[in-house]
Amino acid sequence: SPVIPDTKPLSTVKSVAVVGGGVSGLAAAYKLKLNGLSVTLFEAEERAGGKIKSNSHNGLIWDEGANTMTESEMEVGRLIDELGLREKQQFPISQTKRYIAKDGLPVLIPSNPVALIKSNILSPQSKLKIILEPFLWRRSNSEVSDEFSHGSVGQFFQRHFGAEVVEYFIDPFVAGTSGGDPESLSMRHTFPELWSLEKKFGSVIVGAIRSGLSGKAKNSGTGKTSGKTKRPRGSFSFHGGMQTLTDMLCTKIGSDNLKLNSRVLSLACNYEESSPFNSWSISYAANNGSHRELRDDQPFDAVIMTAPLCNVQEMQFTKIGKPFLLDFIPKVSYLPLSVIVTSFRKDYVKRPLEGFGVLVPSKEQKNGLKTLGTLFSSMMFPDRATDNHFLYTTFVGGSRNRDLAGASSDELKQVVTSDLKQLLGVEGQPTFMKHIYWRNAFPLYGHDYDLVLESISKMEQNLPGFFYAGNHKDGLSVGKAIASGCRAAELVMSHLNSSTNKS
Ligand code: FAD
Repeated sequence: SPVIPDTKPLSTVKSVAVVGGGVSGLAAAYKLKLNGLSVTLFEAEERAGGKIKSNSHNGLIWDEGANTMTESEMEVGRLIDELGLREKQQFPISQTKRYIAKDGLPVLIPSNPVALIKSNILSPQSKLKIILEPFLWRRSNSEVSDEFSHGSVGQFFQRHFGAEVVEYFIDPFVAGTSGGDPESLSMRHTFPELWSLEKKFGSVIVGAIRSGLSGKAKNSGTGKTSGKTKRPRGSFSFHGGMQTLTDMLCTKIGSDNLKLNSRVLSLACNYEESSPFNSWSISYAANNGSHRELRDDQPFDAVIMTAPLCNVQEMQFTKIGKPFLLDFIPKVSYLPLSVIVTSFRKDYVKRPLEGFGVLVPSKEQKNGLKTLGTLFSSMMFPDRATDNHFLYTTFVGGSRNRDLAGASSDELKQVVTSDLKQLLGVEGQPTFMKHIYWRNAFPLYGHDYDLVLESISKMEQNLPGFFYAGNHKDGLSVGKAIASGCRAAELVMSHLNSSTNKS
């Protein structure tokens, strides 16, 4: 446990349990420790990091979960600064060169509106629809009907930009970032910012320009960006892979405060207004090799839960001695994904492409392509492969092809090699392959996700000192998971402060 200053009475050091050692739980635990709280993090697996996991073999370095992240949330930038990770940040070469498959071949995605209008990815009708969008959607907020509130991602983009934009941009994008498809995903939950722009401005293009400008104005107003060196924008990783971030968080949290191999089984809340502290106790299964032991931990003042909801549903909760049933939490749908990492000798790749990667729209399945997309890992980060090899990271499955996600490694090797042959001209077999299967890669932010969020709120309201964070609540990206964890830590601290004032 952290060193408690002698001068501070023991009872004033608040102790918090964090359940789940993915990036959201690690960020929450780090923030709590930074603010002088005692923190214990329980992680079921033998390692922390959750969906962030880097690996290496014979000069190859790859990520098995998240490959890159962005700094769109302010909590991310602050965390990277605090952790001293700026020097380890690694930006991809040719970040803006991204491809989609069209008619079976990779085509460069235009990186700005003029290039989009000039390119021949879209038909003239679709281009016209984009140009006219600001005029056709010039409406006041009251005019943007409530009937759109619960629409799908596909419906949203189709009404603004037409079907072709959905098929060739939105479909591959959502498949690549969430494993989902435009029709199953709820617009409100998947892209809350764009959904609000429609409500506020009518036109998405006008809204994006205006809010972009006001964002810039706000930044220059606070002067926060002035005087600082300008940082590259866009996606990034870290030298050594994304796990450099979670490893650093683990180091800062301290191994004494990290309970690995510790699957939480039950949580008891004994909170009473008159004695709000020490009100939580946790029991967990500690796995030491083949030996499994049930243990109870010291009482905690609050709990931050970051385990996926499907795991929370397996836990037993009690409130003042009585069972607190979680039957109000709806079943969350998950999308399965296989990640296939391959390496090919450079002279066996006849049409290598510089850039970030290629996404495959579902329409392109008719041209024989079965994967969701491939990252050009060693093109982005040349130190991730030896000089004479290319490294690729390919995704298969999602809602487009759930069965294929669970296929054998041999079958997936064939699928990936065949797609890469068509897209990049690879010849022969990979010299290296690693297959990782994520059964529950992403929770599906579907049309009834409201019910999931309501059930999280219900837990928080009924269980004093309980807070939920992570990718089931605040967004799927690494940045959003970090922000979610940081915000939960803030909420815990203000809850504990207000309890101190009351008691
Ligand atoms: P998780 O990482 O799922 O962590 C939850 C933790 O809780 C796990 O470690 C789990 O073992 C633990 N746990 C579960 N049950 C218990 C229990 N009973 N007791 C104790 N611990 C428990 N995002 C991006 O921004 N960019 C990308 O490029 C990107 N690519 C991705 C690729 C893949 C293949 C996947 C799967 C995800 C990707 N994501 C990406 C999404 C992003 O990685 C995740 O949304 C994010 O890392 C989730 O963090 P989290 O802390 O919310 O949850």
